[in-house]
Parts: sequence; C-alpha cells; structure tokens
Amino acid sequence: MSAVADRPPFLPWNRPAIGPEEEQEVLDTLRSGWLTAGPKAVRFEQAARDDLGVEDAFAVSSCTAALHLALLAAGIGPGDEVITPSFTFCAVPNTVLQVGAAPVFADIEPTGLNLDPVKAAEAITGRTRAIMVMHYGGRPCDLAAFRKLADDHGLLLIEDAAHALHAWRDGVRAGSVGDLAVFAFYANKVITTGEGGMLVGRDDLVQRARLLGRHGIDSSVWQRHGTRSTAAYEVTVPGLKYTMPDITAAVGLQQWYKLPAFTEARARIAAVYDRELAGLPGLHLPAVEAGVEHGRFLYPVLIDPAPARSRDSVAEALREVHGIGTSVHFQPVHRLAAYRHVQCHLPVTEHAAARQLSLPCYPAMTADDVQRVLGALHTVWF
Ligand SMILES: *Cc1c(COP(=O)(O)O)cnc(C)c1O
Repeated sequence: MSAVADRPPFLPWNRPAIGPEEEQEVLDTLRSGWLTAGPKAVRFEQAARDDLGVEDAFAVSSCTAALHLALLAAGIGPGDEVITPSFTFCAVPNTVLQVGAAPVFADIEPTGLNLDPVKAAEAITGRTRAIMVMHYGGRPCDLAAFRKLADDHGLLLIEDAAHALHAWRDGVRAGSVGDLAVFAFYANKVITTGEGGMLVGRDDLVQRARLLGRHGIDSSVWQRHGTRSTAAYEVTVPGLKYTMPDITAAVGLQQWYKLPAFTEARARIAAVYDRELAGLPGLHLPAVEAGVEHGRFLYPVLIDPAPARSRDSVAEALREVHGIGTSVHFQPVHRLAAYRHVQCHLPVTEHAAARQLSLPCYPAMTADDVQRVLGALHTVWF
C-alpha cells in the first residue's frame, strides 16, 4: 500500500486517549459560565472518593501540588525525615525539601521495583515522620506491610499512587490504604487532564490540605459571618493556590469513567508483550505475583548490559531506526545534582536504573502499533 519512502509516523512512548465525551464535558463547562474550581471539580472529587472508599478527596493543579499539600497538611517540616524510594520521580523529594524536611532514600525490591519494606524499616530514625511509598508502574507495593510498619512506629503512610489509579493488591485498592494518597493527571499518565492531580485520604488531613490549597481562606469562618460578601473572608493560615479549575475537572471526570477500559486495553497489550518477548536473551519482563491486579501504567523491561546491546543502544535503535519512542523510569533521584549530598547505599536501585526501559503500552495504541514494537525489538535483538 505505502511506498518504500513512506516511513510510518513516529510512535510515541505515550499519547493521551481523549474522545467526544471529554470534548462534550469541556464544552458544557465553557458554556456554563463557571470555569474555575466549582461543580465539575466537586463531581470529580466525588467520583474518586466513592470509587476508592476514602474519606475525602481534593482535586488540585498537579500531583506535585498534592504531594506538597500532603506534607504541609501533615505538619512535616524542618528536622523531620521522610522515607522514600530514590527510584521515583523528583517531585517527591523536591516537595520534601520544599517543606524543609529531609528525604531519606531506601532501596527497592528487585522484582516489583517498589520500596522494600525491610529497607524502609531499617531507615526509620527518631526523626522519621512519614513513609512515602510509590506503586511503580501501576503495581501496588506491599501495602499491608507498610501500613503495619507505619502504625507500629506512629508514622504517616503516604501513597504516591501517580501510576496506580486502578490497581489492587490482595483485594485492597492502591490509594485507599495510606493516611493520604496522591494521583497524577499529567499528559503522559494513566489518565490525563493535561495538568492535574488529586489528594485523597483521611478527612482531617484532606480538610487541612483544602484550606492550605485555597490561600488559607477559611470558608467555615466565612460562613459563620453569615455573608457571601467577598470582603468577609478570613485567612487563618498563609496558604497557596492549588485548586483544579472546572475546565480541567471536566476532562478528568470523563477520563476517570474510562479507567476500567483503559486498564483492560493496557493489560491486553502487556499480555501480547509477555507472550511475544519471552525468551529474548538478556531481556527481563515484568512479573506479576498472585494477588496483584496490576494497573499496567508502565510496561517496564530490564535489559542486561552486553557487548551486543545495552538499554541505551536498544532505546536509540528503536527511536532512530524504527521510529518508536520509549522512556526510562527513572533516573534515580540520588544521582541528580540536587540530591548528591544525600547519603545512601542503594544497590538494587542502581542495578534496575542501569537496565530499565518502558515500552509503549497505552490505550491509544492500535494492534498494528503493538506488532510494530514487537517487530522492531526482534530486529534489534537478532
Ligand atoms: C508524574 C509523577 C509525579 C508528579 O506528577 P505531576 O502531576 O507532573 O506533578 C509524582 N510521582 C510520580 C511517581 C510520577 O510519575
């Protein structure tokens, strides 16, 4: 059909799946006359709260905003330590430093690449206030172990569920166990609103975060004054502006409804990769243990360095020769300039970080796209 010169278009590592439902909801918002945080944000929060069975939810401008608010609401600050993996996105330790606390990096487990509960326990000191777990690629970490660890030591458990909006472990949903949990809706996430995030969890903490994320304007004081006049508001704490506008929430609401379908689509692609990539020498595929309903945000493979190929040479060949995008999750944070002062010994993180590559795995991919990735990988290997 196509001429030899017709190279297929670049297949990106990820691409949003937006349909007429999102378009309609945004139009409805634009025409309603209410553009900033309002009824659509409330509906989005309700959908998340009901699905997760959490006490409260607050839709915010990004997952980073949710992380920042989580730490502020918990009163974490100077002198405090927060245990986190280094094998995560920089937003986590960045916000820890922003509130004046110190990130403490603990190592991950080799199979799931999630924070290792044993290593986290070893990292607890008299200054530790919270454990910030992350569900790598959509595969929930050992939530039961971390809940117990946090309770035994009187620590806060915060789930970075940026990758795990629709994932379970032993029947328990990611994002529903921590005192607080955060979700991400950036353009290349599980679902997207362009930019956006959500903070969910304990009533008292989310209420505090809501106050802090709305300038510190105490609307209950405002209501007590018995007037809706804007001159009557009270600021009880110096806050920030982190709310999610309704134009954004309109997209998020419709994307949220599509979570089950998106997970199914990703799981189908992952099953094809599992089958067709098994046995390639030096290529390790993501294993899923019993009891895990994987959110399948990432399809992360590990590529052993060898004279014939390395992670970087495979990524380059896919991009330059085959026009296929991949991504690396993550550059370990302790290797980034702002964090090189942090003392840590993380052999499992180092091992994974040198090998990890994320293959395209998202609902907007066609069956042909998947075959294209497989064909390219087989060409690269043999
Ligand atoms: C993307 C991401 C974040 C930050 O999300 P933003 O919405 O871009 O602020 C935090 N944690 C993890 C694990 C992420 O992947």
